[in-house]
Amino acid sequence: MNFQLTQEQDMLVESVRSFVEKELLPHEDAVDRADSVPEELAAQIRAKAIAAGFYAFNMPEEVGGGGLDYLSQALIERELSKVSWALHVFVARPSKILMACTGQQIEDYLLPCVRGEKVDCFALTEPGAGSDANAIKTRAVRDGDDFVLNGSKHFISHAGHADFAIVFAVTDTYEHNGRQRNAVTSFLVDRDTPGMTIRRGPKCVSNRGYHTSEIFFDDCRVPASKVLGEVGKGWDVANAWLTAGRVMVAANCVGQAQRALDVSLQWAADRKQFGHAIGTYQGISFKLADMATEIRAAELLALNVAWKMDQGTMTDGEAGMAKLFASEVLGRAADQAVQIFGGMGLMDESPVERIWRNARIERIWEGTSEIQRHIISRELLRPLLR
Ligand SMILES: Cc1cc2nc3c(=O)[nH]c(=O)nc-3n(C[C@H](O)[C@H](O)[C@H](O)COP(=O)(O)OP(=O)(O)OC[C@H]3O[C@@H](n4cnc5c(N)ncnc54)[C@H](O)[C@@H]3O)c2cc1C
Repeated sequence: MNFQLTQEQDMLVESVRSFVEKELLPHEDAVDRADSVPEELAAQIRAKAIAAGFYAFNMPEEVGGGGLDYLSQALIERELSKVSWALHVFVARPSKILMACTGQQIEDYLLPCVRGEKVDCFALTEPGAGSDANAIKTRAVRDGDDFVLNGSKHFISHAGHADFAIVFAVTDTYEHNGRQRNAVTSFLVDRDTPGMTIRRGPKCVSNRGYHTSEIFFDDCRVPASKVLGEVGKGWDVANAWLTAGRVMVAANCVGQAQRALDVSLQWAADRKQFGHAIGTYQGISFKLADMATEIRAAELLALNVAWKMDQGTMTDGEAGMAKLFASEVLGRAADQAVQIFGGMGLMDESPVERIWRNARIERIWEGTSEIQRHIISRELLRPLLR
């Protein structure tokens, strides 16, 4: 096996790392304290990301994106995640699901998102339907040339900044193995569409400045021309993208865990107790060794799975393994970092407190750890169970 990155990949990592250090990290503390990103700063980051050629790095070249393979995308995600999502998000990767756009949708949604002129949000989760996404209750009923949407969504990231939402709604039901299932359709809904209201959601402990919203649909009329993909085939549109997203979350977790290790190493070398650097005591140095070992394993898994995605051989279970393992390694690394910092690890003056808070979301969004274990075990058992 060849684990060597290409020269282009090494250069890409170097330039994203330097972008994060120069353009993003200096703002992280202020954004976290204010729990908001000033509009001018968001615009400035977006403009600099476009100029640097990072914007829409996940989209194919033929629509104006970076045209990078998944392995290179994972390397970028690893570096970007060394700063909070509140800032990372403005070096945007538009939802890849927009590649399902056809006809006028390409001009109205896909291309403006790739150029950084429009921003999307992904609206699936509802108060009664989280892990069990098929239980969504938002309904879209056909009425002439339109669909009429009623229902609500919550936890929708970045909806406050979005120009439109990719909304999942039930358009029909059918029977599968004796159970009633929902046929779901995805829609492109502009934020100023009458009948759609976006309201800031509760404050979140992770990634302050990166907000979620509740979205309400009250007889919201959406033209049939705004159906993304085919009617009733919303899961087909969503699933390929969600699976790839899990690999990118894994890469994000590796970057955050590496940051936890880097600051812990420095602290362990600088902080003296009983006359010596605390890193000279095995109680601390073994924690550092365990963190480094687990992070390396998580990195190899995340990059291997990204590489398999490029080869077209990745399975859902493998994407789940990468997300599960890397997010749990991050959780342990962030917790150990707090322990190594002692009391200072819980104070908002140290970066560790923020890393610890931000780490917590990674085991929940894009499919919880429990759901990843379901996906992995189902894949293992499928050939054996009758
Ligand atoms: C900050 C944030 C941003 C988000 N951004 C978005 C977004 O942009 N768009 C979007 O659509 N959604 C978004 N989400 C929603 C996110 O994907 C869900 O929170 C996640 O899927 C879990 O759903 P839930 O919170 O309703 O938990 P639940 O599904 O209620 O789960 C609660 C607990 O039960 C466990 N559980 C559930 N079912 C099972 C089972 N069968 N077996 C074992 N354990 C189970 C879960 O693992 C979890 O531990 C976001 C969430 C947060 C917190």
